[in-house]
Amino acid sequence: MGRYTGPVCRLCRREGVKLYLKGEKCDTPKCPLERRPKPPGIHGDRPVKLSDYGMRLREKQKLKRIYGMREEQFRRFFDLAQSKKGVTGEVFLTLLERRLDNVIYRMGFAASRRQARQLVNHGFFQVNGKKVDIPSYLVKEGDIIEVRENKRSQMEKILETVPERPIPEWLTVNRTGMMGRVIRFPTREEIDIPVQEHLIVELYSR
Ligand code: SF4
Repeated sequence: MGRYTGPVCRLCRREGVKLYLKGEKCDTPKCPLERRPKPPGIHGDRPVKLSDYGMRLREKQKLKRIYGMREEQFRRFFDLAQSKKGVTGEVFLTLLERRLDNVIYRMGFAASRRQARQLVNHGFFQVNGKKVDIPSYLVKEGDIIEVRENKRSQMEKILETVPERPIPEWLTVNRTGMMGRVIRFPTREEIDIPVQEHLIVELYSR
């Protein structure tokens, strides 16, 4: 199945939480979830009791939507997490955080992960001096990420529209210099994603 291209606020209403897919609008009263925190559709008012499977599925959908990934790629990341040492759910989240599009978003060079992915696709960034236009590229400790020389004037305009957010401690950023560095990988506590990852592990381990 392809990537969802419909109205993204609908996805937040479906999951019942803010997935922060729209950038600046998400932190304003214009966010539809502030006004209408019910699932979309004509049956949105009815309380639904989910089965165990349904709960696990919703949790998986929520995480997938936060990172804007397709099922196949999301599953590949999970399989990679399972092959590594450590608590699978935490390793999985750390891998998702290490995606270049997520790192660009976390560094404050884009208002949303969706915008970050577009910028990466359009060749705005280089990692350790080399152009990288693959959003799923996994950053490593010590990586230096910079806006490419020929994209700097465009980036200046984009940054005027991107509100400054707190930068996670595992990254350092020089916003005016348009560069940042991955100091280390994030801990689970530093990943502010409202998800119970153990439910996703249970779902995929069935
Ligand atoms: Fe979700 Fe942002 Fe839309 Fe609010 S404005 S519903 S957080 S995408």
